[in-house]
Amino acid sequence: MGEGHYLVGLDLRGRKVVVVGGGSVAQRRLPNLIAAGADVHVIAIDPRPTVEAEPAVTVHRRAWADGDLTRGELADAWYVLACTDDPAVNAAVGAEATAQRIFCVRADDARQGTAVTPASGRYDGLQYAVLAGGDHRRSAATRAAIGVALAEGTGLSVAAAAPHAAGVALVGGGPGDPELITVRGRRLLAQADVVVADRLAPGALLDELGPQVEVIDAAKVPYGRAIRQEKINELLVDRARAGKFVVRLKGGDPYVFGRGFEELEACVEAGVPVTVVPGITSPISAPALAGIPVTHRGMTHEVVIVSGHVAPDHPDSLTDWSALAKLRGTLVLMMAVQRLDAFAGALLHGGKAADTPVALIENASRPDQRLIRTDLANAAATAVAEKLVPPAIVVIGPTAAFDASSVAPQPGEDA
Ligand code: SAH
Repeated sequence: MGEGHYLVGLDLRGRKVVVVGGGSVAQRRLPNLIAAGADVHVIAIDPRPTVEAEPAVTVHRRAWADGDLTRGELADAWYVLACTDDPAVNAAVGAEATAQRIFCVRADDARQGTAVTPASGRYDGLQYAVLAGGDHRRSAATRAAIGVALAEGTGLSVAAAAPHAAGVALVGGGPGDPELITVRGRRLLAQADVVVADRLAPGALLDELGPQVEVIDAAKVPYGRAIRQEKINELLVDRARAGKFVVRLKGGDPYVFGRGFEELEACVEAGVPVTVVPGITSPISAPALAGIPVTHRGMTHEVVIVSGHVAPDHPDSLTDWSALAKLRGTLVLMMAVQRLDAFAGALLHGGKAADTPVALIENASRPDQRLIRTDLANAAATAVAEKLVPPAIVVIGPTAAFDASSVAPQPGEDA
């Protein structure tokens, strides 16, 4: 007796795979079979809606019939998965597959099958699979640990990453907590030769970079005649042209008041390959981290994200504050600490109720996160009294008063 299985990768492109059963096992196996390009046929009396609605598979709504793998449409199958909830049916499928020399997975009793499905994952074009001799917890836990180690952007992920071509990645870093960057953002950061970081980008992520990585603080880029943004654009293009992989690490999302598209344009004009990785943006996530939803069914049907970098009466202002005053949903003001008085005044002037709830959220997701509650009439005075400092988000609207700690558990429900 050999020990364990012989690991192999099947090329299932265009090849017929028969899945018998349409329940939870089928639902979990289908995505990877489809991703592998298999011609998947499901035989099931009562497939669950997600299986039945899967456009990439052919569903045969009927019971398994002996001989299914020897005649008709399914005779030329390469691989079979027996995953009904009836062991007798799975045994019949397995026996027929074996007689036809077709490898078959038995979902109910792996040892009775001639193949097993490993716990598998993907990373940057790499695939990995774990078998633990039938111990599903162990294989799943190992797979999860590999996934975490790969996402962490250190040792294993650097070794496993595909070699990176020169170019620029505009990466959204999220609101500040290093755990709130995307998996892709973290992976690209681990591959960077040069990182150009904003002041609001999560600083803790920079600590993880190897000593060979050039880290440039965008706020300190020296500039003379050209404005700083032009200097940053030049820097991105120059480094990429020198063959480096450059990550432009930004706070939140690169395209939400982040000037990301200007950097993209500069790269495109220079013929430098550029990719954008979205980030968790602060106008949505800062309220969420403070326990405030920006929408609530039956209460708010719009969220408007507004820049406060110019005053309402400034000739450069593109915002119609009197129109905003008439909306009933949620207004989220960014970069608004300095001129909160003017914005609140413009909204009150436009007719917004003085007692409209307001939440001020400072340093969201950072250890010094602060939430201050007030209302529209008192917002500016409260911000001054509380010494509110940037970065902060101002939420105006009914949900700004929401407080999870005041939600009473319903009697009769488990506490
Ligand atoms: N691209 C960023 C926004 C850049 S503009 C994003 O998508 O989040 C800078 C403004 O973002 C700040 O003035 C503040 O209003 C807001 N901001 C960013 N990070 C924040 C944080 N951690 N807490 C509160 N506000 C934040």
